[in-house]
Amino acid sequence: MGGVTAPVLLLLGRGKDSNSERGVDCPGDLPAPSDPGLVERAAAAKAALGDRVFVLGHHYQRDEVIQFADVTGDSFKLAREAAARPDAEFIVFCGVHFMAESADILTTEAQRVVLPDLAAGCSMADMAVLEQVEQCWDVLSDLGIADDVVPVTYMNSSADIKGFVGRNGGVVCTSSNAKRALDWAYAKGEKVLFLPDQHLGRNTAVLEMGYSLDDCVLYDPHKPNGGLTDQQLRDAKMILWRGHCSVHGRFTLENVLAMREQVPGVNILVHPECRHEVVTAADYVGSTEYIIKKLEAAEPGSAWAVGTELNLVRRLAAAHPDKQVMFLEKTVCYCSTMNRIDLPHLVWALEELVAGRVPNQITVDPDTAHHARVALDQMLALP
Ligand code: SF4
Repeated sequence: MGGVTAPVLLLLGRGKDSNSERGVDCPGDLPAPSDPGLVERAAAAKAALGDRVFVLGHHYQRDEVIQFADVTGDSFKLAREAAARPDAEFIVFCGVHFMAESADILTTEAQRVVLPDLAAGCSMADMAVLEQVEQCWDVLSDLGIADDVVPVTYMNSSADIKGFVGRNGGVVCTSSNAKRALDWAYAKGEKVLFLPDQHLGRNTAVLEMGYSLDDCVLYDPHKPNGGLTDQQLRDAKMILWRGHCSVHGRFTLENVLAMREQVPGVNILVHPECRHEVVTAADYVGSTEYIIKKLEAAEPGSAWAVGTELNLVRRLAAAHPDKQVMFLEKTVCYCSTMNRIDLPHLVWALEELVAGRVPNQITVDPDTAHHARVALDQMLALP
């Protein structure tokens, strides 16, 4: 069985185009970033829309955007917040494409979800394309083991992948409930196909569930048979998709060791999307919400090196001046696609809504949405 070669970055919402990094045109007037009236314009447009609009801001968004968010959170919290506001006609999602898709799936038919810049994608989500995953499933079926495999996908995946998982008896998980999702999956089948983040899958299986690294295999969609032998696939307990977060994947074991040498007594706090050797060497590991709570509860005067997206780490450092909060890496490490949503795009999206036009609406087709919802509801029903 051959592998499918797909472009890593797709033109979001516009089919498959490997030149997607060029960005997406905004019809109408996109204000210049230098416009001194941007803050006033955003505030005025938001006030004009009143309760008709609800603005969601992911923790990794820029400060200039976060100031206009009605609520901030991680992807799952934001999707639930959107679902809890059935009266808001417009949900403006300051985050990335897969999050806006989840919000569309969980909100009512009448609500419109808007992504201020369609080029705000997620490189990790783009690493699992439906065609590739279906081909992987064919490999498992040909081997006669597909019936033993439960697919589990991280929230950070496209609606197509969530739909595939729902259709095949699986579940969605977040970085907070990955262990519970895997417990459920292993009660149902012998093996798990974990999409698309190899690190969250490996870290959860090995560090939280007692599986060994040898129980895990890495399925590369660009290679025939995923680059694995039939026997490796038969023996594996955990089939990890070869995907990763380009932001969290930058932290290294050397970063951890250097930080410990420079700041004696430092607490290393990282996200489970980091590599296995980084998570193993850290003191604490957990989701974005866990990281926020951990720092809130930390002793004044304590030192923390945090391995997650830089916008969030900078805000946490500003919020806790009584603690030493540092970024784990030496170089800048923003999520470039999250950063696509800037104040000019937010102003543009809000002013378009005021003018009676709905820009950059994100919609998921009803069949995909139905099956994705099955996998999301299964997550909500986890014991
Ligand atoms: S931080 Fe990583 S997982 Fe999150 S949106 Fe950016 S690339 Fe995707």
